[in-house]
Amino acid sequence: MGFSTDAIHAGQKPDETTGAIITPIYQSSTYAQEGINEHKGYEYGRTHNLTRAALEQNIAVLEKGKYGIAFASGLAATQALMTLVKNGDHVIVSDNVYGGTYRLFETIFRDYGIDYSWVETSNLDDVKNAIKINTKMLFIETPTNPMLTLTDLSAISEIARSNNLISIVDNTFMSPYFQNPLALGIDVVIHSSTKFINGHSDVIGGIVLTSDEKINERLKYVQNAAGAVPSPFDCWLTLRATKTLAVRMKQHQENAIKLAEFLSSQNYARDIIYPGLESHPQHELAKKQMSGFGGMISVDVGDVEYAREIIKRLKIFTLAESLGSVESLVCIPSEMTHASVPKEKRDQLGVTDSLIRFSVGLEDIEDLIDDIKQATEK
Ligand SMILES: *Cc1c(COP(=O)(O)O)cnc(C)c1O
Repeated sequence: MGFSTDAIHAGQKPDETTGAIITPIYQSSTYAQEGINEHKGYEYGRTHNLTRAALEQNIAVLEKGKYGIAFASGLAATQALMTLVKNGDHVIVSDNVYGGTYRLFETIFRDYGIDYSWVETSNLDDVKNAIKINTKMLFIETPTNPMLTLTDLSAISEIARSNNLISIVDNTFMSPYFQNPLALGIDVVIHSSTKFINGHSDVIGGIVLTSDEKINERLKYVQNAAGAVPSPFDCWLTLRATKTLAVRMKQHQENAIKLAEFLSSQNYARDIIYPGLESHPQHELAKKQMSGFGGMISVDVGDVEYAREIIKRLKIFTLAESLGSVESLVCIPSEMTHASVPKEKRDQLGVTDSLIRFSVGLEDIEDLIDDIKQATEK
């Protein structure tokens, strides 16, 4: 089936009792048993929930995977993934991942004896050189946040395979609509479904997708044993949102391309980072491994005070953390999403204090451009 057909139907069938066309919110913490351990396969809400199961199956199909395991947040999903390694193991991570991922690995899991190397994974030789005898996992984000640097996923999956490493890709920025890492040989995909997948700024959620039976078994176990499960209502909202994922992603991209083109004609925009621009150093790779370029644009305006002034004057673009929603958002990553990354490291990555990140929403593009015009007037 095509993406939109799957988005609307996968994992969902009319309710058996009533025929209700929409999967109900099974808001129940437990299930009645006919006798001791005699039940319909449902024992307790943390372990089994039909609304959650529908969501898991729906997104698994969209990511071209067999299994989905949903969590209470993107970081809860990443935390669960870290149970695939243990004390003494080494993990190679893309060096400009989401700030919260950096914080989770460096300030929590390092204390449990897991070693991390932060590597420019767009450079395959750097990845190969970072592999040690205790390396067990590659954790990749592509495109990265907020520099939108790409890592070649087919090449990475080969490196992972030949070195017996678990390969993981944080696919939050592209959503399953524009990029399917599992189809390129990657073992595991993780999403913050808070972002494009839910897309309406009303749910915090995370999900892991894989076709690997062993990894699925382990993570299902962890989902229940550690218990960071999403609520039935949040699963229902997210399931409602995936029905429009295709139309939303197309419009995010159309608006982002128009905005990137507009910015390219403005001399205050020193550096415009968008994978859809031919000026993006990895534009060819973007065309090869993604079916679109997404809705995120980063722009360096060269001056900290000016950047702050622009943010203050914007009216439609709302100053906020997060991304991927119907409403346009703007932030200064160095002070917000990436504040927990040390300044030295930020400078090295190009996350300057004058870098503005736009999450281009679904408003009329003329209004978005007018908003930026009035905010950038000197
Ligand atoms: C937001 C985000 C996360 C974390 O997800 P939460 O749902 O906020 O816990 C992880 N990776 C990326 C790329 C993100 O943007």
